[in-house]
Amino acid sequence: MADRYIGLDLGGTNINYAVIEVEPDETRPTVVVSDKVRTQAHQGPVRVRDRLIEVGQKLTAEHGTVAGVGIGVPGIFDTETGEIKFFPNLSGPWEGFSLRDPVGEAVGAPATLINDARAFTLAEGTIGAGKDAKVMLGVTLGTGIGGGIMIDGKLHLGAFGTAGEFGHQTVDPDGPVCGCGNRGCLEAVAKGSKIAEAAGVDNAVAAFAAAGEGDPRALNAIAKASYFLAIGIANVVTVFGVDTVVMGGGIMSAGDLVLDPVVTALDERLTLVPASRVSILKAALGVKAGAVGAALAARFKDSASVE
Ligand SMILES: [Zn+2]
Repeated sequence: MADRYIGLDLGGTNINYAVIEVEPDETRPTVVVSDKVRTQAHQGPVRVRDRLIEVGQKLTAEHGTVAGVGIGVPGIFDTETGEIKFFPNLSGPWEGFSLRDPVGEAVGAPATLINDARAFTLAEGTIGAGKDAKVMLGVTLGTGIGGGIMIDGKLHLGAFGTAGEFGHQTVDPDGPVCGCGNRGCLEAVAKGSKIAEAAGVDNAVAAFAAAGEGDPRALNAIAKASYFLAIGIANVVTVFGVDTVVMGGGIMSAGDLVLDPVVTALDERLTLVPASRVSILKAALGVKAGAVGAALAARFKDSASVE
């Protein structure tokens, strides 16, 4: 009999949620339902935890008992205790706060945490744009820059449970200090607010709108971000033998304005592998990717599909 799992994708504005169903011998799920509610993040960690519980309980009331709950979170957590270490974009204090076990107990199923960009990668690599990839790099471009790696259909989390932190590789040794403490991370030079700042506008959406109208300052800002993004992608392709890069997140709504300069820069940067053999794709699952991936993390947490 098929098991059902809940996925909750915790974002600063919305909690996107999904219920998936997976046959016992299958890895590819059916999405039973997906939707979103407001996070109410400004009310702090306790309120956010209560919102997650409310959504989880509503989903079990409507869709029956589930075998697990996956929670996609915008940051880093202790993989043993489930306590939050660092949520850079949600008002706290979050350090040491416990989400996993209280949500699991209240919803009545074991809970699993996964970083939101890794959840995105797991979903896109299982049923989305990267489902046929041998080695896939998932990239999320939004407030920050996130990522994940899938090898032979399995999410690779590495020795410390944090592998895939695409945005925190150094691409500019003398660049600005990053939120993580390192200098010159890809995120520190190419995130949305950096593009906006260089374009002289309030936010990344305005920067892409100006670029669409041919504004030279905005075009220059995007070209610079794309330059660093291509360095980051080329590094990972060279080291891991990535055949498919799937790009998502809010900034990808600008579509080819983001993608084209990256593809061009990547062509110059890749020497050992022909760039033509690396597919650079837009994400296929839309906003539900994070929730579906979180549910998949709950499904696969004790199996070889997440390692
Ligand atoms: Zn960093």
